[in-house]
Amino acid sequence: MQNRRNKSRSLSGNDKEEDEPILNVKCHYVQAEVNGKVFHLGDCALIRGDGKQKHIGRIIEFLRTMEDDDYFRVQWFYKPEDTVMKKETSFHDKKRIFYSTIENDNMLDCIISKLNVTQISPELKFDLSSLPPSDYYYDMEYCLDYSTFRNLPRDNCAMNSEMASVDCLDPVLSVANPPVLENGSICETYNLLDLYAGCGAMSTGLCIGARHSGVNLVTRWAIDLDSPACKSIQLNHSETQVRNEAAEDFLELLKHWEKLCKKFVKEDTESQFPPADILPDLPENKADAHSDSDEAPEELEVSSLLDICYGDSDGSGKQELKFKVRWKGYGPDDDTWEPIEGLSNCQELIQDFVINGFKRKLLPLPGDVDVICGGPPCQGISGYNRFRCVDDPLSDERNRQLIVFMDIVDYLKPKFVLMENVTDILRFDKGSLGRYALSRLVHMRYQARVGIIAAGCYGVPQFRLRAFFWGALPSEELPQFPLPTHDVVVRYWPPAEFERNLVGYEEGQQTPELEDAVLLGDAISDLPVVTNFQNLDEMPYRRPPETEFQKYIRSNNCGCTSKSEEPVLYDHRPFQLFEDDYIRVCKIPQKKGANFRDLPGLIVGDDNVVRRDPSFKTLLLPSGKPMVPEYALTFEQGKSKRPFARLWWDETMPTIVTAPNCHCQALLHPEQDRVLTIRECARLQGFPDSFRLWGTVKQRYRQVGNAVAIPVAKALGYALGMASQKATGKEALLTLPPKFAYSN
Ligand code: SAH
Repeated sequence: MQNRRNKSRSLSGNDKEEDEPILNVKCHYVQAEVNGKVFHLGDCALIRGDGKQKHIGRIIEFLRTMEDDDYFRVQWFYKPEDTVMKKETSFHDKKRIFYSTIENDNMLDCIISKLNVTQISPELKFDLSSLPPSDYYYDMEYCLDYSTFRNLPRDNCAMNSEMASVDCLDPVLSVANPPVLENGSICETYNLLDLYAGCGAMSTGLCIGARHSGVNLVTRWAIDLDSPACKSIQLNHSETQVRNEAAEDFLELLKHWEKLCKKFVKEDTESQFPPADILPDLPENKADAHSDSDEAPEELEVSSLLDICYGDSDGSGKQELKFKVRWKGYGPDDDTWEPIEGLSNCQELIQDFVINGFKRKLLPLPGDVDVICGGPPCQGISGYNRFRCVDDPLSDERNRQLIVFMDIVDYLKPKFVLMENVTDILRFDKGSLGRYALSRLVHMRYQARVGIIAAGCYGVPQFRLRAFFWGALPSEELPQFPLPTHDVVVRYWPPAEFERNLVGYEEGQQTPELEDAVLLGDAISDLPVVTNFQNLDEMPYRRPPETEFQKYIRSNNCGCTSKSEEPVLYDHRPFQLFEDDYIRVCKIPQKKGANFRDLPGLIVGDDNVVRRDPSFKTLLLPSGKPMVPEYALTFEQGKSKRPFARLWWDETMPTIVTAPNCHCQALLHPEQDRVLTIRECARLQGFPDSFRLWGTVKQRYRQVGNAVAIPVAKALGYALGMASQKATGKEALLTLPPKFAYSN
């Protein structure tokens, strides 16, 4: 026993196995002398760890064993770099540490020296000079489950009263107080900003879910670089200010906007959201707009200012603030973007524009946004990207959006943050990008936690794993992660340090009645038969829904503004296969598991590698190309069964990707010779049929493939709504109401 306990502890390890109290205790003490210094119960100390490591803890017990060995029991604090944030903490205050409930026994001679540790309120506008002299301070608790940083429970403050604690505010009341939803009444309105919004799936789902908890979450602003995606959002959400611009430009614009508002808006100007119907139309894609200010004849007169942006919209290479100008005597086709400097004689128009924009919240000011959600693209880590910068992923330009996302959070200081990303963010370069994201949130004094969620667990026939990061100001409750509603076995092994981040029931844990997993047939069996050549964007359904999923997905439930009277089926058209591929696909048998290996002239070795059969004359297509293309034979060293693979009715698809390419993924309809249509893919992502998509066929597939599965976002929205009403328990996970997946 002695040897085992003599070992000093490592903070990054598993806390459970280390927490076995000493049993053969002879007596306890209230104080002890170590190296000539007297230590009392409740004192904090620097404590020797493994090797040269030194840790910080509070002494909560002194004890002597029957063998006369002296121990102390310690409750540990974590330095930022000892937490899951690890090396991504260089910008943290070195004096800030995190409370933990992890305790264990150590030999008395591990104590090095006394430390002064102060608890402060996380809500304090932090000013170290106002603190009593202190070696370290803490304002939050760290727990390993879901890499959680959160407010300390109320009783902690009391415990701390003897210590040099300042202004120990209790930030939240943890009493569960479920929202009253009688006669469907909604309690509160929260404003949402969707960054990197794509077609807006994530915010759409969040708003639906929040409504179920009694919160009226409204997407006020949405930003995306992709013009067709922006048009999709606007089609579904007329209440949203959709901005087709880069997030980094949006941030600069916000800073300029704040200055303009300070300059032009009088304090007594009322700031209220306008009714949705007076919001302007979606600003046009800046890249499409042309500025010909150099050529503009001098006598042109500005009639009105229509919009504002920051950036290099006209390709002049200059990053600057610009107004969209309507010229007197000209129409919309002649509108141009003009730099603010060139409009010096239009001060009155600028003032009117700013006052008007301020009143109708054209752009958010700090404090206007309650929730920011978004999936900043990290192309440098995508598993599909072979050219990634492994050594320093944050310096990779393609990962810069993670920094921009956090900078926008820092600027706007929303109450809640939800960031989504591929799970590689926790794996690539030892998870440094995920650690960075968490570290930025914690540094900005957000409570935070990280969960890995499989979409299939919430009622879609698609596995799709994603990482989600919650953030909540200290004044709020940290949202939980929603437990699965559907019985799906998650076969995924996260990196060791994120094993406690997988959202689901633990093995052996009693689960409530879960719904059966939704399979491909449940999701799409009711859709009309269409060929590879079908090119209509609209058609009638022809058949009634057959399953609960189909009934739900057809009901007009997306909270969107476009509601059609006659049910019309949109986007049920496939990416048209070219002739060669179409001939190949027609030859793939309509049976479970069929793929290119079922084409004639191939043999599969014991090594599971497929090769051409030398005794078989290679079949050629009319184009002269081989029936079995070379790329199918070489894909994944000839071991893959995915090229030209058919899905089957009883299957779950791994992940819908952004391009409808049947050369490298199973994407063929079970019984029709074509790839899944846009609508079929949308259903696999849980988009309601009423959700409209704008763009070319490829652009629409991309928007669907990029999206957060709507049922996942809906479940997270419910968790957010509960937290915003302070109706959340201390646990990291929440059980969704019965029949949540199919409730409107
Ligand atoms: N969360 C979205 C999907 C986001 S996909 C949903 O649920 O539907 C990522 C999006 O980031 C893409 O639509 C892409 O156009 C956009 N994007 C990429 N770089 C950007 C940038 N610099 N600024 C704004 N948007 C960007």
